[in-house]
Amino acid sequence: LSQLFRPLDLLGMVYRTIRQGVIDMGAMFDLVDTPSEVVDPPGARPLRVGPGHLRFEDVRFGYEPGRDILKGITLDIPAGSTVAVVGPSGAGKSTLARLLYRFYDLTGGRITIDGQDIATVTQASLRSAIGIVPQDTVLFNDTIGYNIAYGREGADDADIRAAARGAAIAGFIEAQPGGYDTRVGERGLKLSGGEKQRVAIARTLLKNPPVLILDEATSALDSRTEADIMATLEAIERGRTTIVIAHRLSTVVHADKIVVLEAGRVTEQGTHDELLRAGGTYAELWARQASERQAAEVETAD
Ligand code: ATP
Repeated sequence: LSQLFRPLDLLGMVYRTIRQGVIDMGAMFDLVDTPSEVVDPPGARPLRVGPGHLRFEDVRFGYEPGRDILKGITLDIPAGSTVAVVGPSGAGKSTLARLLYRFYDLTGGRITIDGQDIATVTQASLRSAIGIVPQDTVLFNDTIGYNIAYGREGADDADIRAAARGAAIAGFIEAQPGGYDTRVGERGLKLSGGEKQRVAIARTLLKNPPVLILDEATSALDSRTEADIMATLEAIERGRTTIVIAHRLSTVVHADKIVVLEAGRVTEQGTHDELLRAGGTYAELWARQASERQAAEVETAD
């Protein structure tokens, strides 16, 4: 019988998630694997959004009892700055971002935004203060205009066009026969990975949140697309507190601070130059990725 009800549970969860406006997190938050339900505490108040100063204070968390993924993370992220989180696969980088969005409650410590513990404010207000550009954007079977407008209820055509321009996708849309009314999805226009990411960027521009999480794509974009997307991302990071979950290092050089996460602990932090000079894990990862890049370039040149 429980097997019969499992899909219903799942459906209910997906529905609630959609209602909360978080469907666009797709792969990052792996909806199907999300077992827990966080709830607003009694008397929860809306987050009073200030400049967007983030603090992680001795944050501990595990998906399962007895297996801690984050083992006491302390980070201070000044308002308006960009922090890149790097480290080996499985270190807990995406988990850190999920916790900021309060997809799960912590097992220890706290996370604050402008001095307010995120566990004490309403989820709706928390989530409206945070924008996410996920690795893999989920698009609706609807028009491209609708897909952008999804970033903000009540956005009008002028807002949508401005966001598309900001995300450098307006030219592509206007070149389609249907313009903003062109349908995307299974029976419509198929977008490339880079184009989908631009839709996510346009949504985020419409939402205009003070805090931004960028979950960088793991799949390699070609170097020209990557450079284009980087320029667009740098533009939306301006004036917002940004956490970049970096799976490759080429994109983190400009961050105000790079945090190295290894097996659930912060092992190094500093700027790119500081960490290279320190000659630790970051310097090693950097050297390894640089030689991989060179090898790839030689292969393409052949
Ligand atoms: P990558 O660079 O490969 O994306 P990451 O550093 O972002 O890795 P996380 O996705 O945060 O790593 O995962 C950290 C650990 O938590 C991994 O061991 C992973 O298997 C585990 N984990 C992630 N999501 C879940 C989940 N929903 N349930 C149980 N364990 C999970």
